[in-house]
Amino acid sequence: MNKPDISRAKSAALYEKAKTYFPGGVNSPVRAFKSVYGTPLFIEKGDGSHIWDADGNEFIDFCCSWGPLILGHNNAAVRNKVTEVMQKGMSFGAPTALENELAELILGNNKFIEKIRFVSSGTEAVMSAIRLARGYTKRDKILKFEGCYHGHSDSLLVKAGSGLVTFGETSSAGVPKAFADETIVVSLNDKKALHEAFEEFEGQIAAVIIEPIPANNGLLLQTKEYLEYLRQICTDNGTMLIFDEVISGFRVGFEGAAAYYGIRPDILTYGKIIGGGLPVGAYGASAEVMDYISPVGSVYQAGTLSGNPVAMAAGIAQLTELLKPGFYDELHAKTAGFVKAIQDFVAERGYRFRVSTIGSIFWFAFTDQDNIATAEDIDPASMTKFKEMHHELINRGIYLGPSGYEVGFISAAHTPADLETTKTAIFDSLDIVFKS
Ligand code: PMP
Repeated sequence: MNKPDISRAKSAALYEKAKTYFPGGVNSPVRAFKSVYGTPLFIEKGDGSHIWDADGNEFIDFCCSWGPLILGHNNAAVRNKVTEVMQKGMSFGAPTALENELAELILGNNKFIEKIRFVSSGTEAVMSAIRLARGYTKRDKILKFEGCYHGHSDSLLVKAGSGLVTFGETSSAGVPKAFADETIVVSLNDKKALHEAFEEFEGQIAAVIIEPIPANNGLLLQTKEYLEYLRQICTDNGTMLIFDEVISGFRVGFEGAAAYYGIRPDILTYGKIIGGGLPVGAYGASAEVMDYISPVGSVYQAGTLSGNPVAMAAGIAQLTELLKPGFYDELHAKTAGFVKAIQDFVAERGYRFRVSTIGSIFWFAFTDQDNIATAEDIDPASMTKFKEMHHELINRGIYLGPSGYEVGFISAAHTPADLETTKTAIFDSLDIVFKS
């Protein structure tokens, strides 16, 4: 049975005001709810797995600030550490022991990087990693994959043109064509396209960048074998392999996708979880590669608030929790049980609906295709059904990211009762969506 719409009066009023201040009323586009209800909910507070909007509606949250909140909202350990550190000032633009502490936590538990540099966002981490790869290899071209998102720096706001191997076309106004010409775009999971790109641009490709667990355009899981092929072709061509682990890092395990697949990239980028909800990104590599960065090396990269104490404190507290024995096993088991119940339900009903999952990430797809691995596999028309489902779920107190291309996250704060409530809401919503 359809549920009545929740009250949105206060969110709607705030949105009208916000539209006079910000383009589209938001400070990041997807928040505008354009592909679902059309007007966003304004969030007032969060605690554990729950959030409350300005109208007092309560939701179980599976967006988790788009991934950073692996411990849930307002986690006591993170909050206490941040509050403690803030008593001594918030930024100095000078080194602090807290930076060492967070670096030790990461480097001491990650066999893929020897040195790290903290920045303030995922975009900045990736942009810097690309510059490092270009500086190191003394080449200009980069190769990315259709369906992977790497932040909004110019070279990466590029989508595939037509053809197997293409120069990219800019996917945003304001990106010079000359930049897009340095970015080659190929499909995921396509060895032939990769091989052709390396043949056509022999000796010119500085780096291949991939989300090893592509999670920004649905969840496009790649095979280990394909990722190994990618590693090999980069090695054979003197091209650096960059794993963009802004989502997968510290999510599928402390050492991210690199450890999950047992593949050593040349440069890694991180964000989200590393900052415990505050703005932090990072990139890392071997000491030899990282020493190309200024002030030691000739690749320039800097930041006024990079490594600021408040963000470092949040990261230290959060990563300390993740290192506790059994943390990931428990989170993954909880997610697997949740996903399986939904998979069993749709199988029994015979619905055209699949759930992809890895670690504590899940993605709902209105399709009957198993193992969706490329952006081209997703039918844009299926998003109408997601929109209906999202609406039904919001009315039942379940908050998913406001687009069918976005993945969901389960945090340590989600309780068995939360997941039971959510399952029932999903089953009821799917029954409505498939009957309409
Ligand atoms: N890389 C990946 C894989 C991401 O998922 C994102 C953000 N969703 C970014 C880079 C950019 O990070 P930010 O939004 O912090 O700039």
